[in-house]
Amino acid sequence: MLKRTKIVATLGPSTDKPGVLEQLIRCGVNVVRLNFSHGSADDHRRRAQEVRDISNQLAIPVAVLGDLQGPKIRIARFKDDKKIKLAVGDHFALDSSLDTYAGDQSQVGIDYKALPEDSRPGDILLLDDGRVQFKVIDVQGTRINCEVIIGGPLSNNKGINRQGGGLSAAALTDKDKQDILVAADIDVDYVAVSFPRNSADLHEARQLLDAAGSSAEIIAKVERAETVSSTEALDDIILACDGVMVARGDLGVEIGDAELIGVQKHLINRARELNRVVITATQMMETMIQNPMPTRAEVFDVANAILDGTDAVMLSAETAAGDYPVEVVQAMTKICQGAEKHQLSRPAPTSITQQCEHFDETIARSAMYTANHLVGVKAIICLTESGSTPRWMSRIRSGVPIYALTRNEKAMSRMTLFRGVEPMLFDATEIDINDLNTRILDHLKAKNLLSSGDLVLLTRGAVIGSGSTNSMQVLQVP
Ligand code: PGA
Ligand code: MN
Repeated sequence: MLKRTKIVATLGPSTDKPGVLEQLIRCGVNVVRLNFSHGSADDHRRRAQEVRDISNQLAIPVAVLGDLQGPKIRIARFKDDKKIKLAVGDHFALDSSLDTYAGDQSQVGIDYKALPEDSRPGDILLLDDGRVQFKVIDVQGTRINCEVIIGGPLSNNKGINRQGGGLSAAALTDKDKQDILVAADIDVDYVAVSFPRNSADLHEARQLLDAAGSSAEIIAKVERAETVSSTEALDDIILACDGVMVARGDLGVEIGDAELIGVQKHLINRARELNRVVITATQMMETMIQNPMPTRAEVFDVANAILDGTDAVMLSAETAAGDYPVEVVQAMTKICQGAEKHQLSRPAPTSITQQCEHFDETIARSAMYTANHLVGVKAIICLTESGSTPRWMSRIRSGVPIYALTRNEKAMSRMTLFRGVEPMLFDATEIDINDLNTRILDHLKAKNLLSSGDLVLLTRGAVIGSGSTNSMQVLQVP
């Protein structure tokens, strides 16, 4: 059974076990995520190679996404790697001049040296995703004196967020700049930029990728409160990237989960309106790190993102470090297929009344209009060079599969992220134009995707290989 929503799975020790990667790909993973926050360059290289080998063997396209660590702010370490326990009302200090290994019951170092300058009395600092919370009393030089307002255990290298966001750290760290070179060398299809503040951070990433010879598309991780505080701030980010990630982990900590639900819906909608792809991420199937079954709340969370219109749902520790990496992908695939049956989730797209700049975009929209309104259309077939036409198509909701035929392997990999698009390799340039339609239909019939008598739509350019889609035909499979 076809699955329209795409699954992004993070690789890690659990997917390194023999046979796991192959099962993930067979069970519905479309994009693998190399998390540059963990593992060495060699780990990433080896994993990407294995994925590509399996993808070639199985003839299932899989894209590789490199996710940069970004300026995640963390506390340093405790003496003898001790775990401390803080109680409400305790006084505790974060001190940027403290030695890395010198943390104790009253203080700990921080890796982001500008945090004291960024902090004001009254600020709420959220440690370990908000499990422990501090209120800033005052700042003395390098030292932030705090009072504990939510207590609990605290151990080495836990993350710090500020409620409401607004920390000044630039998105691309020195480590990220090194990792961009690794990502270019691996030839990843997508690079995710963590904690971008605005379009300038994304333009910088684009320049660094270009300089490294990489044509990877950029996914902006929306995870700072200030980037979702106004439509202008959000549009600035969306327009500067190729796709966005609703990075619910850090964003949820900064704005609170109660605000996050609305932001997720708005962000997915806006990304689609602006012709960008969107990934919904973090803690989607969290309990499956240790359990073979998801909770109903998790099933509904994933389904909700699908009804919101996300292109992809993402697994983090569930596949990278969990006990049930294969089962979680199987469970997610089922949820996708279940949620996609729900027809009510297809409101008329606003784009139908919008003007567009590109004639091929109007062809894409016409095809979707026809697919959604002409009774009996089984499939849309799209001959594409770059993947733009299928991307435009997939911004409009439909239950009709979009088979995207391209001779370009890069475009094929990229399209694995587009909802409802099934990319495949097909070189039309060698085929006589008079035989082309028949050959395309035969190709899909041979793959059991079409049968005789099916009504289909075909879009392509007049000159094959030129990439300028200027026609849509309604065809019946012979
Ligand atoms: P991370 O990003 O997993 O790299 O932190 C995703 C998120 O914050 O949700
Ligand atoms: Mn994050």
